[in-house]
Amino acid sequence: MKAIVVRQFGEPEVLKIEDVEMPVPGPSQVLVKVGAAGVNPVDTYLRTGVYPKLPPLPYTPGKDSAGVVESVGSDVTEYKPGDRVYTSGSVTGTYAEFTLAEGKDVASLPANISFEQGAGIWTPYATAFRALFQKAKAKAGETVLVHGASGGVGLAAVQWAKAAGISVIGTASSNEGIELVRENGADAVFDHSDDGHLDAILEHTAGKGVDVIIEMLANVNLERDFKALAMFGRITIVGNRGSLEFTPRLAMTKDASIFGMSLFNYSESDRLEIRDAIFKGLSDGALKPVVAKTFPLAEAPAAHREIITSKAAGKIVLVP
Ligand code: NAP
Repeated sequence: MKAIVVRQFGEPEVLKIEDVEMPVPGPSQVLVKVGAAGVNPVDTYLRTGVYPKLPPLPYTPGKDSAGVVESVGSDVTEYKPGDRVYTSGSVTGTYAEFTLAEGKDVASLPANISFEQGAGIWTPYATAFRALFQKAKAKAGETVLVHGASGGVGLAAVQWAKAAGISVIGTASSNEGIELVRENGADAVFDHSDDGHLDAILEHTAGKGVDVIIEMLANVNLERDFKALAMFGRITIVGNRGSLEFTPRLAMTKDASIFGMSLFNYSESDRLEIRDAIFKGLSDGALKPVVAKTFPLAEAPAAHREIITSKAAGKIVLVP
């Protein structure tokens, strides 16, 4: 089968398509014929070799995918060949024609969700759910600012929050992104490339501020987020690409809480809560993964460049 293989860390060109052995499922594993694989920013951090925890070389990237079960190990009873599924983890990597996953990292894909959409489920929706509900404990009647709402995690956060009866303010920096955030249910959308956007958001809330901020670029925004945060507000840091100087008094004055999160730190009960909420949300139409662009598997280098350099408008997906 064909798979993308990384033999050395580096620029996107290290993502090479190769012929590799077809994986065979062990007793607890499921082999999935990949219909589409999700591309996440973390895949690019790993590829460059600067991430704190790196895979041993060579490796095939990716843990998000959607497709059809090809075969199952002897202990797997929940799935059978032909079932439509998505993956939340992979033993062999999802940038491939087939991927091997532990049974616990496979979940049913509702019939109304395409493989391209399914490839954009786990990392974005699980991250957004954890940031909003398991960390910041956002609830109906509150106001949430999704600071960076036009990408995979941001659109997922907008959809989750709206479905929970929360008032949503989103941000993006392109006209397409702003329109998309609005279409996905945000009550108001601002441009985060405009220096005055947090003052404008404060004004929009009649000076009260927002109860929760889901922050996609903390090194740029964490200090100034406090302008738009309400008293007793909560901020969940989802994304960060550098350092900043920060005045802790800002948090003291507002009795604010700042949560950090990394998706892989969830407990088993948190994971099951997320998985069940995703299935319900996809099935009842509250959650609709947005695909920005698909690339053939061999064009993984172009997909990696796109996710880092282009303005976001949903998910980037690879199709084998
Ligand atoms: P993505 O699809 O590439 O989206 C990036 C988002 O960041 C876009 O909405 C983009 O908006 C926005 N952005 C750019 N500049 C910004 C600024 N100055 N202020 C606020 N937002 C800004 O990426 P993603 O998959 O949604 O992931 C978002 C971030 O979360 C990434 O850094 C990723 O590594 C991280 N992440 C963390 C976890 C975790 O477990 N903590 C899990 C998943 C993802 P425009 O393009 O419209 O400017």
